[in-house]
Amino acid sequence: MQYISTRGNYQPVKAGEAICLGMVPGGGLFVPESFPSFFPQDLADLPYRDLAQKILELYLDDYTQAEISEMVENAYYSGNFSPAIAPLVKTGGHHILELWHGPTAAFKDMALQIMPYELTLAVEKSGHSKETVILVATSGDTGKAALEGFKDVLGIRIIVFYPAEGVSNIQERQMLVTEGSNTHVVAVEGNFDDCQNAVKSIFANQGLQAEMDKKGKVFSSANSINWGRLLPQIIYYYFGYGQMVAQGTIKAGDAINVCVPTGNFGNILAAYYAKRMGLPLKKLVCASNKNKVLTETIEKGVYDRRRDFYKTNSPSMDILISSNFERFFFEMVERDGVVCGQAFHDLQSRGLFASPKAKENWQEFLEAGFADDETGAKAILELWKSDKYVLDPHTAVAIAVEKAYKERTGDETPVLTASTASPYKFPEAVLKALGQDVSGLDDNGLLQKLHELTKTAVHPGLIGLDQKEIRHHKRIKKADIAQTVKEICGI
Ligand SMILES: *Cc1c(COP(=O)(O)O)cnc(C)c1O
Repeated sequence: MQYISTRGNYQPVKAGEAICLGMVPGGGLFVPESFPSFFPQDLADLPYRDLAQKILELYLDDYTQAEISEMVENAYYSGNFSPAIAPLVKTGGHHILELWHGPTAAFKDMALQIMPYELTLAVEKSGHSKETVILVATSGDTGKAALEGFKDVLGIRIIVFYPAEGVSNIQERQMLVTEGSNTHVVAVEGNFDDCQNAVKSIFANQGLQAEMDKKGKVFSSANSINWGRLLPQIIYYYFGYGQMVAQGTIKAGDAINVCVPTGNFGNILAAYYAKRMGLPLKKLVCASNKNKVLTETIEKGVYDRRRDFYKTNSPSMDILISSNFERFFFEMVERDGVVCGQAFHDLQSRGLFASPKAKENWQEFLEAGFADDETGAKAILELWKSDKYVLDPHTAVAIAVEKAYKERTGDETPVLTASTASPYKFPEAVLKALGQDVSGLDDNGLLQKLHELTKTAVHPGLIGLDQKEIRHHKRIKKADIAQTVKEICGI
């Protein structure tokens, strides 16, 4: 399998090289040249690891079966995800796929627990002995998941940039206490888009890459612009579908819809790729918070990022420039790299692009909606009252949008909802939604209160965070991101 650029500006490469590079030098993202068909008869019986092995083999054909098996064993063992890897919970008429049982309590672990193995093997295969410097822009959850995945991995250095006032207390604390001699965490006075833009422009800066090369270093990315991040996310849509069959909700072959709380469009893109591979997904419902640029794009066929940016209770979705929409758009313009490149160039320079043709292609299966904080809070309270199930604020956005979709369309197809974070990661917003008084409570007090109220277990990755030493203290202006990278890399 070869990987090509969404902008038609690079030669096809093997998976390992796409993963090492992170994104296409000079702009654009790597996508598989085709989508293999995959729909096993025994899907409902396949354990997560077996499914992972099969799907990764389809796309990583420059890795041996034994290498893939080792990666899968190292990432998806039961102690790493507990009590299960991706349990499907049937509650209140919903089918909630809990993707946050990994070490950092967010769905990013599903990919970032395996990605370091993908990357180190790819570096080995490439035969060079350079140090890989991973640049990460995070809206909160990618940062910690990437730090945990890559800390103390030989031959790797990782630098994480996050918006100083744009993540939750617990998210920030999780990152700042990270150990490991190869980890760097930097607060940026700006928002997530500022961080992501700066990182992308470093990738596009060939002069800087040449200087890195002289020092024996090379950049890569752990954001979902990296194919190695997206690929493992395809697995859990198959797994979730299989669980729906196993639980008797559907028969093998029946169509379902999926609803995904969306920021950078990576998670929902993985669902689209699963659909292309033959998983019977009828509608993909893209759920946004008050930063509803995708809702409008999907409805109108015009991506216009020129708008106010809002900080919400679902910070991991506070994004106006959704990187992976480029990969989706590439498919919707029938893989025309010139058209796709022009559109995303326009988005960067003029702030918008329009494509009626792309819209025509997606409107038969892509749906969108948004829910503000208040609507999300209502969804949290309702499901708690009716079924004693606690949603985090991101998943609550999805549940609210799913409900509105069903009311609007009357579509009764069962919906698989991606649940992206543990409620314990955002205890203040969750407790407030449940009508609780949170005044005077510190992070630990909030966790305790949520635990006492709901009688659910605190996510083990979040216990004792306040006892740990803060190890990272850097805070910079957004204009200084490139300079900071240079300093850390000794350039
Ligand atoms: C990252 C994240 C999202 C958004 O996922 P994308 O792949 O960026 O669309 C949603 N919810 C949570 C909790 C996240 O961490």
